[in-house]
Amino acid sequence: MNPRKDKTRKQAAGHPVHSHPAKDPVARVIEDVSYCAECECEMVYPIDWDQADGRHWRVTLRCPNCEDVREGLMDEELIEKFDCLLDRGTDSLVRDLRNLTYANMATEINTFVSALDGGHLLPEDF
Ligand SMILES: [Zn+2]
Repeated sequence: MNPRKDKTRKQAAGHPVHSHPAKDPVARVIEDVSYCAECECEMVYPIDWDQADGRHWRVTLRCPNCEDVREGLMDEELIEKFDCLLDRGTDSLVRDLRNLTYANMATEINTFVSALDGGHLLPEDF
C-alpha cells in the first residue's frame, strides 16, 4: 500500500481526513489547506485567486507532488491561516537554500584547496 494514500495513518496522527466530497468542487470550502486531498502532500500552494464576495476568495490550489489542481472557496480566516502556512514554507525554503549554498561553497573551497595543495593548479588555469 502506498503510505501517502493510507488515510488511516493520517487520522491516527491527529490530522482530520475529510470524507465528505463536495457536491460542487468550485463552491466547496477548502477546510484544510495544508494537505493535498489526493496524496496528502504538505506543499500545496495557490496558483490563482480572486475575491468571490466580501468574505470569501476563490482559490485554485496546486500540489507539486501529484499535480492535482483544485479550486475552492476560502473565508478570510482560512486565508489568514493559509498565508501563515505559506510564510512558514517560504522561510523553510530560504533556510534550506542558505544551507545548500553554504554546503556547495564549502565543497568548492575544499576542492580548490586540495587542488592547490596537490600542485594541480597552474598559472595558465587562470
Ligand atoms: Zn497531491
